[in-house]
Amino acid sequence: VTEDLVLPQRMEKLPKDKHGRPVPWFVAFIDGEPDFRVIRRGGIGDALRFKLCWVCGQPRGVNAAFVVGPMCAVNRTSAEPPSHRDCAIYSARACPFLATPSMKRRERHLPDDRVDPAGVMIRRNPGVALVWVTRKWHVFPDPNGRPLFDIGSSTQTYWYAQGRDATRAEVLASIESGLPILREEAEKEGPQAVGYLDAMTTLARGLAPR
Ligand SMILES: [Zn+2]
Repeated sequence: VTEDLVLPQRMEKLPKDKHGRPVPWFVAFIDGEPDFRVIRRGGIGDALRFKLCWVCGQPRGVNAAFVVGPMCAVNRTSAEPPSHRDCAIYSARACPFLATPSMKRRERHLPDDRVDPAGVMIRRNPGVALVWVTRKWHVFPDPNGRPLFDIGSSTQTYWYAQGRDATRAEVLASIESGLPILREEAEKEGPQAVGYLDAMTTLARGLAPR
């Protein structure tokens, strides 16, 4: 399904792993091997300070593309900095964790000093990856002081499943499947948060492909 996937020019200089896959800039090398689950040391700070693309590591323009899960269309929050649009689309289609729903994230054997993305992560594979292009976003601290990203409103959204365009049904199903977790959080906060969640959910559903 990904044979039409063309590596963006900016990603051509990235190192390759033993399967020949480009290793995104943000990935940490552990004992000489890239570990795609671990963020390079200082990666978030460097990406922000030097305005670098999270995927290719080169300077990023005014457009910011976040590769996120479907629930981020609801809570408008990402744990990782933005990328070029083309780099983000390539990642959303090629990343094995995002592109293959049956592939489980391995949680075991993670190094002790791995960097945990900030905030409440929904630790499951949503099966649907979203590229959220925006011109306005900002960083804010999570309760532990680690950076999170308010991804703002989208100028474009691209939805993928298994490396191809996601169907409307897949997008809507992926949003529904994540709602109980967000609803539980909102109910702890009170009726205003629940009302806000409902409004944001309606907006997210409206972004599903026709
Ligand atoms: Zn890039």
